Amino acid sequence: MTALSIVNLVYRWPRQQAVCLDIPRFDIAAGEHVFLHGPSGGGKSTLLGLLGGVAVPERGSIELLGSDITRLSGHSRDRFRADHIGFIFQQFNLLPWLSALDNVLLPCTFSARRLARAGTAHEAATRLLTHLDLAADAWHKPAGELSVGQQQRVAAARALIGRPEILIADEPTSALDAPRQQIFIDLLLAEAKAEGAALLFVSHDERLAAHFDRKIALCDINRAGTVEP
Ligand code: ADP
Ligand code: MG
Repeated sequence: MTALSIVNLVYRWPRQQAVCLDIPRFDIAAGEHVFLHGPSGGGKSTLLGLLGGVAVPERGSIELLGSDITRLSGHSRDRFRADHIGFIFQQFNLLPWLSALDNVLLPCTFSARRLARAGTAHEAATRLLTHLDLAADAWHKPAGELSVGQQQRVAAARALIGRPEILIADEPTSALDAPRQQIFIDLLLAEAKAEGAALLFVSHDERLAAHFDRKIALCDINRAGTVEP
């Protein structure tokens, strides 16, 4: 089973003439850890938005776990994302007034499947936070009061809870210094491996690619050259 299979994908932002993405073919195997890099403005986040079903391509198919999400209704795409994809955003998108622990538990409130796969959700959340090295005294603090490094760990635990088959991370380390970035990536890779999840990790900094199964440049799969001068 492939985690992701893109065929002849074309995407153009509304009211833009230039095509942003033109990807004839891109696959990720189940459980594979892929590092995708490329310059700022190249379309990396746009691609991730399409994978998350936030936008729909002009042409082509996006198969995730064997389902073509471009053929689903908006509601079904939202359902699919909640059930099968763990997202880590660049700005983390934590709810600042909720505790670290409650942020991690959120996917289990949106998805019965994630809740069932988490087992005892509270135990799963504390186990993930422990594995990701978040000190227990931070678990009950509002997320908005945590350091950037702590918020990043909460965001990773939230993506991992309930064992989604696909993890997508959009430049989640750009706010940290290099040694801390590598530590975080190694923790994330270890957890993804333990859960058997495919990981698509996006960064503009290809020095971080060392411990992934595969490294690719967006420009190698994307025929549209949208990088601004
Ligand atoms: P990256 O994540 O690689 O830095 P993005 O996917 O954010 O690149 O952006 C790729 C291109 O898509 C940008 O050059 C920009 O022109 C266009 N773009 C991004 N977001 C929007 C938007 N909300 N509306 C219109 N165009 C956008
Ligand atoms: Mg981006």
